Amino acid sequence: MLDMIIIGSGPAGLSAAVYAKRAGLDSLVIEKEYVSGGQVLLTYEVDNYLGLPGMNGFDLGTKFREHADGAGASFATDRVVSIEPCEDAEGKRFYRVKGAEGSHEARTIVAATGTVHRLLGVPGEDRFTGKGVSYCATCDGAFFKKKEVAVVGGGDVAVEDAIYLARLCSKVTLIHRRDRLRAAKSLQDRLFALENVEIVWNANVTEVQGDKKVENIIITSNSGASLAYPVDGLFIAVGITPVSECFRGLVEMDESGYIVAGEDCATSAPGVFVAGDLRTKKLRQIVTAVSDGAVAVSMAGNYLETL
Ligand code: NDP
Repeated sequence: MLDMIIIGSGPAGLSAAVYAKRAGLDSLVIEKEYVSGGQVLLTYEVDNYLGLPGMNGFDLGTKFREHADGAGASFATDRVVSIEPCEDAEGKRFYRVKGAEGSHEARTIVAATGTVHRLLGVPGEDRFTGKGVSYCATCDGAFFKKKEVAVVGGGDVAVEDAIYLARLCSKVTLIHRRDRLRAAKSLQDRLFALENVEIVWNANVTEVQGDKKVENIIITSNSGASLAYPVDGLFIAVGITPVSECFRGLVEMDESGYIVAGEDCATSAPGVFVAGDLRTKKLRQIVTAVSDGAVAVSMAGNYLETL
């Protein structure tokens, strides 16, 4: 019987792993692949993590993992399928975490599976994924050197992607459904200063067309006019969706599937805590994920003392 199982190894899960070791808790991190760091690994440059301005996302994610390894954290690679609340002979609660590879038992759980990118949901998106449609500029941008690409979305990720791609591509067209970006002001200022970036406001990408690879996107303005726009690639950055399926039925979630918890990271199930982007919160950033990991372990430590 472990004290704690941490599910997920992004910044929240790895921070929890470091704090759990420091608290002397017998803990295990379950990650779905042997690649830690989460979404930060896909970020070209992280400019707002205190003390490390301009850090490459992959390097930062790798450092997080090295820190957890150095602290002595234990890792298992598995895909968690279900989490079952159970009681021992003394009536004390524990959780059985079942994965595709096996099961583990612990007194507390830290849910830190984060989020994945959202799909645009238009004809051609699925067919051309990997053939010109991408969800990761830093992973796939190099395939579009000196070519013309479009980015769809208006948040931090879309703007960061457009800035990154503008260094590689001859032209970047950012298409946004409103007349104002959601992204941080500092990112917007950098974007607006780039000469090879064009912004199409108040419009949506409604179809992706091509033969063997992307050739055109259909841009439909909010007034209803459509045009075929030739591009070599389309980068989709229209937000994120929580990875919370294995927690369904165990804890309270909001209508979008985020796990409901306040700043103490405590969920509706005793002994289950949620850290990072998966939690209902106002600001999803690396720094708030790392903070949650620490808080969740501290609260879990208090809970363990009550058992
Ligand atoms: P966001 O939810 O912030 O932005 C999504 C964007 O996509 C919005 O502009 C939205 O438009 C648009 N959008 C959503 N659905 C559609 C659709 N169907 N068609 C067209 N456009 C659509 O998501 P991000 O992925 O950019 O960021 C996720 C989180 O990660 C945010 O909290 C962000 O702050 C954080 N983040 C932090 C970073 C950092 O700390 N450095 C870096 C990157 C991300 P609209 O504006 O009209 O709603």
